[in-house]
Amino acid sequence: MNHPVTPSRAHTTALVLFSGGQDSTTCLALALSKYDRVETVAFDYGQRHRIELDARLHVLRELKNRFAPWAAKLGPDHLLDLAVLGQVSDCALTRDVAFTMESSGLPNTFVPGRNLLFLTLAAALAYRRDLQVLVTGVCETDFSGYPDCRDDTMKAMQLALSLGMDKRFLIETPLMWIDKADTWRLARALGEQSGVPNGGSALVELIVEHTHTCYLGERSQRHAWGYGCGNCPACQLRAGGYQRFVQAGG
Ligand code: ZN
Repeated sequence: MNHPVTPSRAHTTALVLFSGGQDSTTCLALALSKYDRVETVAFDYGQRHRIELDARLHVLRELKNRFAPWAAKLGPDHLLDLAVLGQVSDCALTRDVAFTMESSGLPNTFVPGRNLLFLTLAAALAYRRDLQVLVTGVCETDFSGYPDCRDDTMKAMQLALSLGMDKRFLIETPLMWIDKADTWRLARALGEQSGVPNGGSALVELIVEHTHTCYLGERSQRHAWGYGCGNCPACQLRAGGYQRFVQAGG
């Protein structure tokens, strides 16, 4: 008996955890290049800087304006209120406390288990929106070593969420093993493949101009790599990656 061979695409829809930074914008571009329907989610937990939440809206607007093939796939953006995090955390992201490293070796910006909460809420939203893949920009090569961003944590969460919600989720982490220079390269490659003329440089420029990374919320100084104080760990990581990206020929 002949069985018709039909191309099977198990995963066609995705929810991107989208903060408006360089990493999650690159993840969003990747999702838009792979999947048919893509939605975005972020969490408002009383960040010191609303600038981060504003940056996401600017990035979404610019992606829609400049990348028509992606605009057609981009669905609703969701912002979930997670103010309760401010009640359980005492950290530099939610209060005006200087950045330090704690004896654990983690920066004092660390909110224990924050990313576990984000993924759980994202999965609940994805369940309701019928989205199959959770895309997140977590990275083990990052300087900070957040344990809730590790590859093993992601695999455990994928299993726990799939079992606990009785729905097969895939957690996709495109940046897990690459550094910041490679993240710029990935963005350029995705832009080039978008079908938009000069899409590679257009996406790099969009990320430079509109994404926000600086912990201090500084946007008055424009550097080659974007806006920021230039001194906080996030700025240094972004600047160093961009420098290596450009030095290697862009
Ligand atoms: Zn900074």
